[in-house]
Amino acid sequence: MTVGVLALQGDFERHQERLAALGVEVVPVKYAGDLDRVEGLVIPGGESTTIRRLLVRSSMWEQLRYRVEEGLPVFGTCAGLILLSRNVVAEDEDYGLGALPVTVERNAWGRQRESFEAPVRLAFDDTPVRGVFIRAPRILDAGEAEVLGRLADGEPVLVRYRNVLGATFHPELTEDLRVHRYFLSMMEEAHASQKS
Ligand code: GLN
Repeated sequence: MTVGVLALQGDFERHQERLAALGVEVVPVKYAGDLDRVEGLVIPGGESTTIRRLLVRSSMWEQLRYRVEEGLPVFGTCAGLILLSRNVVAEDEDYGLGALPVTVERNAWGRQRESFEAPVRLAFDDTPVRGVFIRAPRILDAGEAEVLGRLADGEPVLVRYRNVLGATFHPELTEDLRVHRYFLSMMEEAHASQKS
């Protein structure tokens, strides 16, 4: 299986390393043609407005929307999650691709808590992961999405809807590979169902 990491802006190199550590083939996605070759895509953290602008400029925005609708497994972290969301507070209606039926607010932790770490309880494992939050968005309403990770007070920080996974934190910044491994299992599911 080949997984792509959108490499236009932001924290893509750490994602590439983390995925390579799991033994999959990893390719940077910079041009529209690169998207055709991948069976899964990670959209990294960074600055969502910049990543969005570069996606539109490289004609990948609509192509990405189409591939995600078609079932391409996608994992967005932080800015990546924002770009996959249906409603982004205070932004235009089409700011996100709409693939995750959630409402998010950018930079929503306030200045005091711009960056922090907190344990995230996972739905698919007994031991929490260390969540690294950097100017993170908040999921104000998880809608129909399945909540796979929560802070101690119950706040959703890792959500899934069908083929789309989104985290408000940065699992690529720790050595813990569990969230990336979970995403690979989504790719395996999609791969198996295409074959059958
Ligand atoms: N604050 C950024 C945004 O709104 C996201 C931050 C991040 O990806 N670490 O795009």
